[in-house]
Amino acid sequence: MSLFRRITALLAIGLLAGCATQQTPPPPPPPYVAPPPPPPPMVTMAAPPPQSDTWDGGIVPMCFEAPQPEDDWAREQVRSAAATWEAAADVHFRIADDCAVGGDGRAVPIRIVHNPQMFASSSHLGRSLLNGGEITLNAEYLVTNRLCGPRGTLGEFKCFYADSLHELGHALGFSHDHVSPRAPNCLARTQTPEAVNAAESYYDPDSIMNYCNDKRWEGKLSPADRCSVASAYGVVDGDRPTRAECYAMVGAVPTTQEP
Ligand SMILES: [Zn+2]
Repeated sequence: MSLFRRITALLAIGLLAGCATQQTPPPPPPPYVAPPPPPPPMVTMAAPPPQSDTWDGGIVPMCFEAPQPEDDWAREQVRSAAATWEAAADVHFRIADDCAVGGDGRAVPIRIVHNPQMFASSSHLGRSLLNGGEITLNAEYLVTNRLCGPRGTLGEFKCFYADSLHELGHALGFSHDHVSPRAPNCLARTQTPEAVNAAESYYDPDSIMNYCNDKRWEGKLSPADRCSVASAYGVVDGDRPTRAECYAMVGAVPTTQEP
């Protein structure tokens, strides 16, 4: 429950109590207590996301924005990346072929662009994507990118697949591991600086959500990634891991009280 809701609930309880005790003299006014400062903005990582960012029933409604026939291969990679997350937890990406046809205004658009200067991106985390958010994927990589360029050493679609896996991770509520103070000052991180979250000790060197993971272009979920998504959304079979168990896998301790 957010602090605001908690305060509202307490006020409601107070009002009800007032109704029940009308006959007794009113109590003296309570001493003035300054309102608490607003909570710091929530920053999550590949640690299990907070419940406020997760999707009800693990169902993530999405659609392809203005799909072009030449991008068939790219949409296939997005669906394949979705299937990888779905195999790790009780999550279900429902991706309509065309936002104009299948989207009902409650689907998150996936835009596929061709611009070698652009990075893939997700405008929001988790279900807050429904607030006008979108995911952008770039189907062109710099020719000079040794791994991902047109003749990249990883293979034709590998980088696009890895980007898709990463951005769908944001759609599930995950942010970046490399904002942890435990992250190294890797080049990929310093080129796209993000504020360090000093309170967060979760750092997984092997996460798909970690810019400092040199192998992230291979497009694999780490064991702790799998633990985190299973902890946030549950699993189809077996036991649901706790947040603490996922944190323990990377030598960290949860900083919130969520289960
Ligand atoms: Zn990212």
